[in-house]
Amino acid sequence: MMDTKPWRASVLTLFPEMFPGPLGFSLAGKALANDTWSLEARDIRASATDKHRTVDDTPSGGGPGMVMRADILARAIDAASPTDDPRPRLLMSPRGRPLTQARVRELSAGPGVVIVCGRFEGVDERIIAARNLEEISVGDYVLSGGEIGALVLLDACVRLLPGVMGHEASGTEESFSDGLLEYPQYTRPQEFEGVAIPDILTSGDHAKVAAWRRAEAEKLTMARRPDLPAPKRGKKA
Ligand code: SAH
Repeated sequence: MMDTKPWRASVLTLFPEMFPGPLGFSLAGKALANDTWSLEARDIRASATDKHRTVDDTPSGGGPGMVMRADILARAIDAASPTDDPRPRLLMSPRGRPLTQARVRELSAGPGVVIVCGRFEGVDERIIAARNLEEISVGDYVLSGGEIGALVLLDACVRLLPGVMGHEASGTEESFSDGLLEYPQYTRPQEFEGVAIPDILTSGDHAKVAAWRRAEAEKLTMARRPDLPAPKRGKKA
């Protein structure tokens, strides 16, 4: 379908069977099937060097759990992403910069991503600088591995690729697109458990609808997410 090169995702993981997982369905799944994007899940264990295919070791200085080895990760990253690979290399990490729609937009506008998924207590610190990994968090809580975070990031990026969403939403009127949470949505029936759709939405007056949506979005954002950067003025809701 695409004449341009697909957006390429490489995921380095100890559990390649987790992919494409939910990304094989719906919008992302269709886009994967028609080569709008490509996904390769690479087994980090394939880069192990001993006969037990060891990828981790005990933390230096002591403490619980295991740490993924820098040398094994380096081999896995180099196999997936040669030095001239233009794609950013990401490391899923609770210490990372929280993922935002702005970063998602940038990533989806680029050539793709290489994502390293941690497990256990995480990765040897030295691999981060050695392979220029950008640490990205999907929220202030701890997951048991980077895979679900990678699925979150990929889903958010893929739906913005050209042609994936069609004309619906097109990503420009959604939550975060202009620093606001989305306005409330309604559909039929006209009355649900005694609650009617706001009259203005069925009035047919597009300017009034737009003004109402903008005002509702501002109210909601103020109440729930005062931390979001102030919306840009003069844009339609
Ligand atoms: N000991 C670490 C947590 C390791 S959790 C700490 O306290 O910071 C194991 C792996 O899960 C991490 O290496 C990372 O790849 C992934 N992970 C956990 N929480 C995450 C989050 N909020 N965002 C992105 N990745 C996360």
